[in-house]
Amino acid sequence: AEARLIQAQKMEAVGQLTGGLAHDFNNLLTAVVGSLDLLLRRTDDEKLKRLANNALQAAERGAKLTAQLLAFSRRQRLSPAATDANEIVTKMGDLLARTIGPQVRVETRLDPQLWHALADPTQMEVMILNLAINARDAMPHGGRLTISTDNVLQVPAHLSSELGGREYVAVSVADTGSGMSPDVIARAFEPFFTTKEQGRGTGLGLSQLYGFAKQSGGTVRIESQEGKGTKVTVYLPRTNAPAKVVELAPASTGQSDL
Ligand code: ADP
Repeated sequence: AEARLIQAQKMEAVGQLTGGLAHDFNNLLTAVVGSLDLLLRRTDDEKLKRLANNALQAAERGAKLTAQLLAFSRRQRLSPAATDANEIVTKMGDLLARTIGPQVRVETRLDPQLWHALADPTQMEVMILNLAINARDAMPHGGRLTISTDNVLQVPAHLSSELGGREYVAVSVADTGSGMSPDVIARAFEPFFTTKEQGRGTGLGLSQLYGFAKQSGGTVRIESQEGKGTKVTVYLPRTNAPAKVVELAPASTGQSDL
């Protein structure tokens, strides 16, 4: 519980800090890029040009990161609604099958009697997308990505103090990838924790997911075995309200790569 409290405080502080910092940082980067650009145009020295170009590329990576930070700190307020997770998983499964690359087989396993979850449907889409990208990154030589839904009458014992006796809808994303060491699992929800090489990961995906699950009254569980794969399960509270018709992004989003 202590660790969770610290986690929540961290998320809050990070959210407040990043907005301001990212904004200031962006202004600095604009000055850096402007000066380098001027330098490049004023000099004929090839070595100087190469150095300036390196610096410019680094500044551009920095700009990309600040854009992500700004998006993170501006997290929209959640609009929880009675949501049919099967509908969203089906839609995202189709999208992922088209975009995630030929090496990864995408499967969905839906509970046909699935209850409605009380959660923000847009965030549910984002969450599946982020988990799928992590799964893909963990399977550089291909593998199987399985998205499933389940009714949870009784939460696993070690989660019962956190979740209590209520009923949940579980959405999980499993892969047959590299898996995570116990050390990585322990830090996975920390904002900015990443094992990916520079520019590949922001370390915000799982912390954002954790924030979403907690704010929705649920939680996240990671099961992973090194060399075997990972399963991330998101528990969201059940609601008896009938599902609203969920407006999803249009189906024909083309063939873009993630
Ligand atoms: P990012 O993906 O940007 O690194 P995340 O918060 O989504 O940030 O993930 C944090 C870390 O957790 C990753 O860098 C990776 O080490 C580990 N991780 C997350 N998902 C998986 C997965 N499906 N398989 C293996 N490792 C994972």
